[in-house]
Amino acid sequence: MATRLRDRPPLMVRLWAALGSARFTEDWIDDTTHFVDGYTEGRGHIWINPAPAMADTIIHELLHTMQPAWSEAYVRRTTTYLLRRMTDAEIRQFYEEYLTRRKRRTRRKKVDG
Ligand SMILES: [Zn+2]
Repeated sequence: MATRLRDRPPLMVRLWAALGSARFTEDWIDDTTHFVDGYTEGRGHIWINPAPAMADTIIHELLHTMQPAWSEAYVRRTTTYLLRRMTDAEIRQFYEEYLTRRKRRTRRKKVDG
């Protein structure tokens, strides 16, 4: 059942408003020692590095295809295990390889679960 707007937590409503007013820049964020997933600069300018979060999702889904019998919890744990053993350069390479291989859909696909 859909949540009615007035039942939403006030913080959620403010979050959507902040999404509408923030300025986003997507780029590699490298502080020379390790990747940064994102940071805020000044008021409302947010830098997002998509590589770490996307690498997590890509590894997770690859493990499902490689090991269909593994439980969701085990896939999550193994994803974290593998990701922590990748260097920033490997995460970047992994993400760049994904960018060259992905196919963008023009219509939304419905997925159960
Ligand atoms: Zn999963």
